[in-house]
Amino acid sequence: MKYDLRIKNGQVITEAGLQHIDIYIKDGKIAHMGTPTPTNAATREIDAQGQYVLPGFLDPHVHLNDPGLTNSEDFYTGTCAAAAGGVTTVLEHPLTFPLPDHRSAFLEKKKIGTGKAVVNFGLFGACSSTNQAEMQKMIQDGAIAFKTFLTYSPEIPSLDDGQVLAHMKFLSDYDTVLAIHCENNAIVTYCTAKMQAEGNIKPEDYPDGRPEIAELEAVARMCLFAKETGCKVNIAHCTLKAAIEIVQEMKAQGADLSVETCPHYLILNRAMLSNLGVFGICNPPLRQEERVEELWNCIFDDKIDWICSDHATYTIEEKMAGKDNAFLAPAGVTSVELCYQLFFSEGVIKRGLPLEKFVALTSTNAAKRYHLYPKKGRIAVGADADIAMLDPHTVWTVKDENLKQMIKWSPYHGMTVTGKITKTIVGGTEVYNGSDITSEKGSGRFVAPEK
Ligand SMILES: [Zn+2]
Repeated sequence: MKYDLRIKNGQVITEAGLQHIDIYIKDGKIAHMGTPTPTNAATREIDAQGQYVLPGFLDPHVHLNDPGLTNSEDFYTGTCAAAAGGVTTVLEHPLTFPLPDHRSAFLEKKKIGTGKAVVNFGLFGACSSTNQAEMQKMIQDGAIAFKTFLTYSPEIPSLDDGQVLAHMKFLSDYDTVLAIHCENNAIVTYCTAKMQAEGNIKPEDYPDGRPEIAELEAVARMCLFAKETGCKVNIAHCTLKAAIEIVQEMKAQGADLSVETCPHYLILNRAMLSNLGVFGICNPPLRQEERVEELWNCIFDDKIDWICSDHATYTIEEKMAGKDNAFLAPAGVTSVELCYQLFFSEGVIKRGLPLEKFVALTSTNAAKRYHLYPKKGRIAVGADADIAMLDPHTVWTVKDENLKQMIKWSPYHGMTVTGKITKTIVGGTEVYNGSDITSEKGSGRFVAPEK
């Protein structure tokens, strides 16, 4: 048999650890792994000498703004950025309009993604107060999971505790995850109003409008609901060790929980807000430096399930709405292209995180949770040929103007990073060659959970 592609001489991170083996790809899947077969065994070869060959990253929390907010990102630009960051699958969260809380909006979004994405994509459905019949249809249509927000957002229907509990009971019958943005709405509303009334409206004041207790209380409440209902719950973008400890405790009591964090909570802190300005405004907010180190300890102690970007972009003008009052800036930071390269640099290079843990946190764990494993999240015979190649020796500087995302800003401009993605392969096809996107718009595939 002639293979389509051979990746040779790489240091491959498999479930058995680091191996010096070649990978042979046929029809979009890994068909063979091992020592070299005759040199003409594959139509094409890639030499991965000196590089890590990793399962393509799975970013389970991105916002691509499409449809509805495509002045700042869309499925093409967002997935080009993903590909340039070694991400081969994104799971897109529903801050898009029309809101995908019903079948027709979900299917419309799926169609848009199919026409534009260059990496694989899965779609979260949205929860509104009374949409369980529509949620059932979206599950049939391949919704990867559902998302709800506990804080009031002008665009998203706010669910009360009774409704969240009812949705969890409903989803527990479908083995489908509910991801939750956990902040106590009443605390956030009160503190945000107080800060503004007192004129404390600079970016560095912003975190006091959303204090730690707002996140802690909401995480604890959702953990209790998860235990009560048996629903699989994912605590989105967690910033606090104390919240993660609650998750651990409730897991021990039988709740089916996972918890994620993001590069901004591992790299940035609130003292940086005076420099970052509105471009460092996100929810939950950046915390003090001490909290950042506590989060890293949680990663080393296997208390965090995965890293996600929570890529959320706005135009410069939209962000600058908060230039005189940070509370008026739309919340969110960008990083789908940088997320896992930053995590490699700060985690593996700087802090000595083992490569096996890096792989678990950047693809395997999320693939398992969202029912995409064993096709995704591992390098093994039979798995999809979704691969990221990373040169661990390249030292480079983040320049926002070089990012592939639609609007060129990030909170990481000027930062030095060790380790760079040199190739991204999706379904056996090269999508990124280290500098440019090499595949066609619409080459990415929709992924649905396989239960
Ligand atoms: Zn988000």
